[in-house]
Amino acid sequence: MTQALVVRPVGGPMNGVPAVPGSKSQTNRALLCAALAEGTSRLSGVLFADDTAAMLEAVMSLGCDVRIDRHNASLEVTGIGGALNFEELTIDCRSSGTTSRFLLPVLLAGKGKVVLDGSEQLRSRPFGEQMQALRSLGGTLNELGGSDELPIEIIASGLEGGKIKISAANSSQFVSGLMLAAPLFEGGLTVELTDTPVSRPYLDLTIEVMKKFGVVVEEDGDSVYRITEGQYSSTDMMIEPDASAASYFFAASAITQGNIRVKGLHRNSWQGDIQFVDVLEELGAQVTWGPDWIEVQGDRLSGGTFDLGNFSDTAQTLAAVAAFAESEVEIKGIGFIRAKETDRIRAIVTELMKCGVEAIEMSDGLIIKPNTWRLTGASIDTYDDHRMAMSMALLGLRVPRIEIRNSACVSKTFPDFFSVLEDLRPRAAPSTDVVGVAAIDGPAGSGKSTVARALAAELNLPHFDTGAMYRAVAVAAFRQELEFSDASAIAELAKTAEISIGEKIIVDGVDATDEIRSAEVSQLVSVVAANREVRRILVPLQRQWATELGGGVMEGRDIGTQVFPDAVFKVFLTADLPIRAERRFRETEGQTFEDVLKDLQRRDHVDSTRDDSPLEVAPGAVIFDTSNMAIEDVVGELAEMFRSRVEG
Ligand code: C5P
Repeated sequence: MTQALVVRPVGGPMNGVPAVPGSKSQTNRALLCAALAEGTSRLSGVLFADDTAAMLEAVMSLGCDVRIDRHNASLEVTGIGGALNFEELTIDCRSSGTTSRFLLPVLLAGKGKVVLDGSEQLRSRPFGEQMQALRSLGGTLNELGGSDELPIEIIASGLEGGKIKISAANSSQFVSGLMLAAPLFEGGLTVELTDTPVSRPYLDLTIEVMKKFGVVVEEDGDSVYRITEGQYSSTDMMIEPDASAASYFFAASAITQGNIRVKGLHRNSWQGDIQFVDVLEELGAQVTWGPDWIEVQGDRLSGGTFDLGNFSDTAQTLAAVAAFAESEVEIKGIGFIRAKETDRIRAIVTELMKCGVEAIEMSDGLIIKPNTWRLTGASIDTYDDHRMAMSMALLGLRVPRIEIRNSACVSKTFPDFFSVLEDLRPRAAPSTDVVGVAAIDGPAGSGKSTVARALAAELNLPHFDTGAMYRAVAVAAFRQELEFSDASAIAELAKTAEISIGEKIIVDGVDATDEIRSAEVSQLVSVVAANREVRRILVPLQRQWATELGGGVMEGRDIGTQVFPDAVFKVFLTADLPIRAERRFRETEGQTFEDVLKDLQRRDHVDSTRDDSPLEVAPGAVIFDTSNMAIEDVVGELAEMFRSRVEG
């Protein structure tokens, strides 16, 4: 187990063109075909990671010659090109499902004895359906451990093909493996699927790669494949960037209001996982398909129901994105991912819940009921699943203190993931931004005022409390004994009252610094703030203030959403309701704790449900739960985030 990695929130839009490594699925298929082929193939854009290293070592141990050029991500493979002979060999597939499920049928077509083995994790993954199909063709397979599991001893003396029926309802890898081996079987092979396969795009990918290496695959409808006996022939092949790996960057863009382009992917890509961007688009992100790239621009994200049966490797990515959506997201059609590196449905539900997300486990998927206010940092278990680490890291882009345990498990498919992600960290020089505003929003009692004030002092920036403006109008209304329900009279007052917000709050020449914090004002200020006209008058004054000073720390309810949606740094402070009430209770006199609690609930409700500028998490904002934190620590972390955002 390697060290835990804490992901630092970015606090701004992530933009750029990440270096996404080559497709694992394509690399391992091409590598196997090249290894079996006659002649020398050149593969470019290949992935160097644990799963492909497993295939690479395996084919080399079978006698194929490989020249590795890591620097240029390419391989020169001189294939075996004929009979596959081996003796007393053990092949370690590490944790690679593709390597093991592709090799098992291929090895049976050779001659000799070989043991196929892998990590503890791979040993616990199923092989039964594929073994049964191979036994039906006369293959001799002996499990040396658990039934239907690795390690498996293969006693091979060539295999006669024919016809097999197989289900691909649990893993398409079983079928892909049989198809890849089929040209080596005497008489070829006809594969008939007994039900609708999961991840069908992977079967299409297998066929595409096989054809590229010169073998004949005929499709009869969408459930019968006929593969003619034959010889793979060498070819040169360019591997696409990995679409599953790209999903993390598209997601990062979607949740941080960023703009990220991945080169080398396009509509006609062979990888089913490109469909993930269609889901993001349905949720609200803007997607542009270029001739040789895909670009995702973040926007507000709504909810929806999505069947990910054909691109399930992106299910955890979507679950992480859903934590930031504005309504419920259901992911279905993925029951089979419980048999991947871990029970991925259970794992993602468990870890999301640790972060305050309401996630419900279903038999064939999960439902996420997002409530961004409740998001909080947590120490994330990754279950030795690279996709758990990469998808949960997405939460860390907007939630402080997300710690990814055993982060090195990403080496299975994307060893450089965290540094590529870090390269996209947004950095803004203050001078190039129109206004260097740090927007601090949040409900009452979240620690907003204390934090904003201290942060401004720490950063040596001006501080502006916009809530004081609404409170000052309420004070003026009290003084004139206006009816708060008289919206136009209150609006008129907002226009005419002389309000000065500084160290002291002055209303019409009289110090109101204490008055604005009185219980009556606190009780009625929400009504003032919900007045559309009042906001129309005060918001431009707030913008003017920041523009004149060249920026500063500005606190309120709608700074990140309305006043400065392009603020250089946006934060939503939050805390558990009882904790917020406790904080307020300590500051007020003459009220019971119950009264304070009820008043907070009422204000939360009014502020977050009003038509105009409701209190909500601004798109892309850092969500900072201050419940169990000392103010100095919150300020310290925010100052660090702000500095890294503007100073790099
Ligand atoms: O932050 P504070 O509690 O002093 O704000 C008082 C009230 O002013 C809030 O409850 C909210 O109704 C309103 N407000 C607002 N928009 C802001 C700041 C405050 O609606 N930007």
